[in-house]
Amino acid sequence: MTARTMARFHRQPTEHTDWCTRDHRCGINEHRSADLITDAGSGRAVITRVRAGNTEYAEIRARIPLHSTETGARWQITATLRLMRELLAAVAVRPGVLRGRTERPAIDRRAG
Ligand SMILES: [Zn+2]
Repeated sequence: MTARTMARFHRQPTEHTDWCTRDHRCGINEHRSADLITDAGSGRAVITRVRAGNTEYAEIRARIPLHSTETGARWQITATLRLMRELLAAVAVRPGVLRGRTERPAIDRRAG
């Protein structure tokens, strides 16, 4: 019989957030919101806000029924990938974006 050494992970528990579900969806150091669901056609997208340690992110899952033809399915997958790239570029945190978050100069600006 050989002895095996099991690695032990020591994670520090973190407090629940104002937005997490405070139930089985939260782990010792990961907190998750309720799912936010949107439907379009026969597809569905789900966004979950997650805090893992000191990092927060939006987890996105989507179910997109694919066309029955290979050409159609490939077109859908290609379009999905292109649009996901555009989505990431549009909402990604860029240097300076969070710094002035409380300043909203466009709100008081008048058109004309
Ligand atoms: Zn939690």
